[in-house]
This record gives sequence, C-alpha cells and structure tokens, in this order.
Amino acid sequence: MPARTPSAARLLVLSLLASGAPALAATPTASSAVRQGELAPLKVAPVEGPRLALQPSNPKPGDPVLVTVSGASSLPTGSIAGRPLRFFAWNNGYAALASLPVEQAEGTVAVDVTAPGRGLPVLLSGVLNVGAPGFRERELRVANKYVKPPKAVKARMEADRKAFAAAFAQPFQTPLFGQNFAWPREATVTAPFGDRRSFNGKLQSQHFGVDLDGATGSPVVAANDGTVVMTRHNYASGNTVLVHHGAGLYTAYFHLSRIDVKDGAQVKQGDPLGLVGSTGRVTGPHLHWGVKADDRWVDGQTLLKLDFTGAPEAPGMATNAPGLANP
Ligand SMILES: [Zn+2]
Repeated sequence: MPARTPSAARLLVLSLLASGAPALAATPTASSAVRQGELAPLKVAPVEGPRLALQPSNPKPGDPVLVTVSGASSLPTGSIAGRPLRFFAWNNGYAALASLPVEQAEGTVAVDVTAPGRGLPVLLSGVLNVGAPGFRERELRVANKYVKPPKAVKARMEADRKAFAAAFAQPFQTPLFGQNFAWPREATVTAPFGDRRSFNGKLQSQHFGVDLDGATGSPVVAANDGTVVMTRHNYASGNTVLVHHGAGLYTAYFHLSRIDVKDGAQVKQGDPLGLVGSTGRVTGPHLHWGVKADDRWVDGQTLLKLDFTGAPEAPGMATNAPGLANP
C-alpha cells in the first residue's frame, strides 16, 4: 500500500480490479520529455487508483462520519453498515456524510464503496472501530406536566413534529459551505450529546444535542453557511432556527429568546441567528445546538472536528491529525 495511506483510517483495498495501467496514463509533461527515437523511460507519473478516507478515525455511537473518495472518475456508490451512502462531488473528489446510530454497538463497522476508476470499478473497503459511547445517565426531577403532556399540548407537539419533518425534507444537494464548522457561540458545554435522561425515575429520553451555557440575550450565530429552513416557536424546543447546509446536513438552534432571521434566508458562518433564551421546555436559559446528518441527530462536537477542507490525498490530512480522536 502507498506509504501515505492514513494508517489511522485502517483502510484496506479489498480488490483492485483495474486501477489503470500507468502506460495509458502518461501525463503531457512526462510524454514531452521523451524525444523521438529514444526509448521511452518508465518515469511516468504513478497513477493513483481510487482511494478511501474516513473521519473521525475512532468514532463513537452517535457520531457523524465523513467518507471521502479520491481518484474516482465519476460518482461512487457505497454503504456504511449496509446503509446507503449519498455521495456528492467535493474537493476534486467525492464525499458522503454518514452517521452512526446512538444504539451502535462497540466494534467494527464496514464501509464499502464502489468507485469508478479508469478501467473497471474499484471496490474499496474501510473499517471504523467504534468505541464506547460514554453517554451519561442523568436523573432529572421535573413537574409531572412535563413528563405527561396534557391533550392540548399533544396536538401542538404533533404540529411541531410535522413542521420539523417538512423542514428536514430539503432535496439532497452538494454542500452550501466551503469551510469547517464552528461553534454557534463560545461557551461552556453544560450537557453533551447523548446524555440519557430519566424523569422522576423513569428513563424518558436521550439528549440529541449539545447544550451551551449562556445568559438570555447572548448572541447565537450560524455554525456554517446555509439556508434557514425553519423559524418557529415549538412547544418543546421553543423559538427554533434550523439551517440547511446541503449534503443532508442541518444545524438546529433551540430555546432562543429572539429570532433574527427569516425563513429562506441565506446565512454565512458567524451570521447572527438570534439570542439565547429559555423558551420551550427548559429549566433555564441556554442554547441547545443540534446537528442532523444522514437523517439522524449526531454529536455536534464531532462535527466540529471533521476536516472538510483538506484535499483527500494531501499529506497530513485530517485522518492523521492527533486532535481528531474522540476521547
Ligand atoms: Zn439540550
């Protein structure tokens, strides 16, 4: 295997059906160096067949997974744990944003990709070593009305659910962003993704977002470029902004005291979306930041570590970066 294959990604080319014959792929530069009558030196630039890279290198359940393929001649197809990957053109190659369910067991998860090359398609296989989730168990005491919502509230929550479903039904498209994701505010994480919550002794829910500390009125900004697809007051999430980023990726901003964007607005990373608040089903002001990828809520703290900008084959690419492993 080529030395610069990131070992951390534990990549394994299962079968190279036809990675392209070097003689057929002489670059114009290499050819022009050969004078007529001379024997052609075998100094042709090596042809790279399709390659696969996975981030993060050591994911946990509930993480987003960035799959990148370089050297393919057209859009690859593939799957992660049997679930189809949705590829898009990206950085002179192709990428797909996948997800691991929170219920994912520890152990290996297979990523299988068929990448069209110069000849026959190349089958690439990667393995993710999924670690323990480390989700916290939390016991919360709340008023009973929150545990069992009354009838009138149920109807409202059903309307909210439909509004979320409509907002999350954006047609799949290439990313609307060109840089990595950034925090929607610089603040202490008061509750990480995945906390399992018991209300009054009964396991009720899991926390599908990252809670960030903040006083009412503190600014909340877009984590990346995208389009606003929801500005709505919901029963549980309060004043809510949803931003669609393309690639099947959305970020959510809950419990705002004020919304400062309109539905359909194009936002850039760092643009104000609204202010921290305590609207909806909360006990105090904070920002609940949600990330949805591949139709699943995933850990935003892992999304922040994904490197979308590195060329897939560049030395020192993100799969080798020491900061990427999930603690
Ligand atoms: Zn939260």
